[in-house]
Amino acid sequence: MKTVISTRSETNIVGMALIDFLNRKVSVYPLTYGARVPRVGSMVVGQVSSVMPQIATVRIFRIGKRNLSGFFTGFLHVSDVNTKFVESMFEVCKAGDILRAKVISTKNRSYHLSIADRNLGVVYAFCSLCGGLLERSGSELKCRKCGSIEKRKISADYGKGVI
Ligand SMILES: [Zn+2]
Repeated sequence: MKTVISTRSETNIVGMALIDFLNRKVSVYPLTYGARVPRVGSMVVGQVSSVMPQIATVRIFRIGKRNLSGFFTGFLHVSDVNTKFVESMFEVCKAGDILRAKVISTKNRSYHLSIADRNLGVVYAFCSLCGGLLERSGSELKCRKCGSIEKRKISADYGKGVI
């Protein structure tokens, strides 16, 4: 399934459609035996479910080009965010954001992710004040609804429409 999202108009409706889509995706069904699992090197897409100073938890709902019927839980540590030093996960992503990442370890069935590449990182983010979809404005992200400016570690193709 391919989901194309335009951010040019009707930001609110688009935001809601995306959330709808994600809610359906994450209404967990048991994974069937032999289902596709993340491997080292897999490109995955997921939604950030919680953020702590050093680590974020991500619900992986897509591996490569395939959407999953359930999700895997991935972990993104602050040391795997950028080649440069990053102090806190709070400047990287927030709960609800959609990000693209690479799996760097699957030790103990725990999926560790990295976004330390210009093509990896947050691809959609939502305003922490009003929930509106954030749009790229130079190096920042701006909420079209309330004007709030927020910071994330974004992917080079942030908001371009295909997840
Ligand atoms: Zn807002």
